[in-house]
Amino acid sequence: MAKIGINIATGSLQKNEMIVGIDLGTTNSLVAIIHPESKGPIVLKEHDGAALVPSIVHFGANNLVSVGDKAKEFLIEDPHNTIFSVKRLMGKSYKDLKDHSSYFTYKVIDDNTESLVKVQVGEKFYSPMELSSFILKELKERAEHILKTPVTRAVITVPAYFNDSQRQATRDAGKLAGLDVLRIINEPTAASLAYGLGLNKEEVKTVAIYDFGGGTFDISILRITGGIFEVLSTNGDTYLGGDDFDREIAKYCIKQWGLTETELTVNKSLVQELRLTAEEAKKTLSGAENYSGIVAESEVALSKAQFEALIRHLVNKTIHCCKLALSDAGLTTEDIDEVIMVGGSTRVPIVKESVGNFFRKKIFDSLNPDEVVALGAAVQADILAGNNKDLLLLDITPLSLGIETMGGLMDVLIPRNSKIPAKTGRQYTTQKDGQSSMRISVYQGERDLVKNNRKLAEFNLTGIPGMPAGLPKVEVSFLVNADGILVVTAKELRSGVMQSIEVKPQYGLTDVEVEKMLLDSISQAKEDMQMRALVEAQTEAYQLIQTTQNFISKNDNFLTKEELTKTFQAIDVLNVIVLYGSKDEIQKAIENLNEISRPYAERLMDDAVRVALKNRTI
Ligand code: AMP
Repeated sequence: MAKIGINIATGSLQKNEMIVGIDLGTTNSLVAIIHPESKGPIVLKEHDGAALVPSIVHFGANNLVSVGDKAKEFLIEDPHNTIFSVKRLMGKSYKDLKDHSSYFTYKVIDDNTESLVKVQVGEKFYSPMELSSFILKELKERAEHILKTPVTRAVITVPAYFNDSQRQATRDAGKLAGLDVLRIINEPTAASLAYGLGLNKEEVKTVAIYDFGGGTFDISILRITGGIFEVLSTNGDTYLGGDDFDREIAKYCIKQWGLTETELTVNKSLVQELRLTAEEAKKTLSGAENYSGIVAESEVALSKAQFEALIRHLVNKTIHCCKLALSDAGLTTEDIDEVIMVGGSTRVPIVKESVGNFFRKKIFDSLNPDEVVALGAAVQADILAGNNKDLLLLDITPLSLGIETMGGLMDVLIPRNSKIPAKTGRQYTTQKDGQSSMRISVYQGERDLVKNNRKLAEFNLTGIPGMPAGLPKVEVSFLVNADGILVVTAKELRSGVMQSIEVKPQYGLTDVEVEKMLLDSISQAKEDMQMRALVEAQTEAYQLIQTTQNFISKNDNFLTKEELTKTFQAIDVLNVIVLYGSKDEIQKAIENLNEISRPYAERLMDDAVRVALKNRTI
C-alpha cells in the first residue's frame, strides 16, 4: 500500500518543481499553481495578462500546428483545418455525435462502426486524445515559460459525468504531452476545493455546482464528507451556453433590420461581426443597463431588460436541469448547503438571480468563474505534493493495474492514484468459436504494451461452455481492498463459471522502482501511443478478415463472381499490409475491404428484411 506522502517524497521531486492544475475546457483551458509565498492558488498569466488559452488547434501548411489564440484566428478563414471543442469528441463514437454533426466545421470521421471518432485533417487522422495532447503541450510550454522551470506533473480536471474511457483518454493526452498526470479530478470537486470546501476533515456538506460556460451547462450535486467528494448526481445540457445568448441577440438584430436568410448566407463576414458584437453587448449588459453599437452601419441597441427577456427561456432550462439533478439525488433545495458558480455565463446577473432564487442559498461567486476550476486543480495538486498535512495520508494505488488484451495491449482497470479501497469491472469476450478457456494476465504499470509492465499474476478461466466467438460475457473485476491487496475475479456471466486470485501489487517493489516505471512511461509515451494505435489497427484488420471470410463462406452463392474476386483480392492485400504496413496504411486497406463488402452486406440485409416481412401475418 502506498501513501501519497511517501510516494512523492522518494527524492524524485525537486523542491521547486511545481505540480500544476489544469482546467482542460471545451472552449478555453488554463493552468494554475499554488503561489510559493502566499500559498494561495493563482492562475498563470502571460505578460499581457492573458490566462485563457482557447482550446483550438490549427493545422497549417508544412505540418505547422498552432494552438490557442493563434489557432483561433483561423476559425473563419480555414474552418476545415481548425479544430475546436475537442472535449466534446472525447470517448465518443460517431453515432453519439450525429445529432450535432452540423456543429463541427471540420471532418469527423464516420467509419460505420461503434469505434471512436477521429478527425480528418488533409491526409491525416487524429484521435480526440491526440488533439487534446496538442492543447496540453501548449499549456505545459506556457507554464514552463512563465515559471522558468520544467513542468512535468499535473492534475487535470474533467466533467463529473466523464466515463472511464473519457478519463483514460484525458490521462493519455497528458502523457502524450509529456505530463505525468497525478490525478484526474472532477470539475465540480475542483470548484469546491477552490473555495476551500472539503479541506476541513470534520466538514460534512452537500454542495451544488452550477457550471454555465460558453457552450455547455452542467449542474452537479456533491456530498463532501471528511475530505471525500462523492458525486450524488449530475445533469445539464452539452449544447447550451453563453454562445446561445449571443445567438439570441444576433437573431433579435436580424429581425430588427429585416434581413433575409439569403442576405445572411452570402454575407458571412456580417454574420461573424454581428456574433462578436452580440457577445460584446451581452458582456456589457452584465454591468450596465444599456448597450449600443454599430454593425455594418446598422445600430445595435439593447437594454438589459430586453436582453433578459431574450434569454429567460434558456436560463429556465438550466433551472429545470437543477430540479432534475436534485430529484436524482433524492434531495430538495433545503438539503443544499452551498451553491458554487462556475463558468463565464454565470456573470450574467439574471443567471445569478435565478440560481439564488431557486436554491435560496448564499452563492459562492467571489472567485473569477473562468478560473475557479483551474484554481481548485492547483489546490488538489498541492495536496498531492504533500503540502497539506491533513489530507496527506489518503491511500492510493501508485501504479495502474490492468490485464492483457488482444495484441499484448495493457487494458487499465484501476488507474494509478486511485483512492483505495477501489473496485471496478469490465466485460470481455472470446475470440474463437467454441473457446472454452480464457487466460487472464494481470499487470501493473503505465506502459501501453504489457511486455513493458510488471506481471503480477496469471490464471485461466476454464469451463466456458462452447459458444460462437463474441458471445460469452466474461466479467473481470478488480478489487483493491483497504490493505492494498488486489483480488482479481473472472466470471462468465451466461454460465456462471468463476475463478479468482489474490495478489499484493506492492510486494517486492520499492519506491525507487515505482518512480522508474513512471518516468519510463513518460519518456516512452509517444512510441507507446504509436505502438498501441498500430496494434489496434492490426487487431481490427484480423477481425475484419475473419468476419468477411465467415460471411463469404456462408453466403458465397449470393455474391457475384466479380464481388468474390474483388473481396478475395482485398483480403489478400490486407493480409500483407497488416504484417508490414503502418497504422494509416492498414486503416486504408480496412476501409477498402469495407467499401467492397458494404454493398452486398446491405443487399443481403435488405433481403432478410423482405423475407421476414413476407412471412409475417397481420
Ligand atoms: P467559459 O466557457 O466558462 O470560459 O465561459 C465563456 C462564456 O462566458 C462565453 O459565452 C462568454 O461570452 C461568457 N462571458 C464571459 N464574460 C462575460 C460577462 N462579463 N458577461 C456575460 N457573459 C460573459
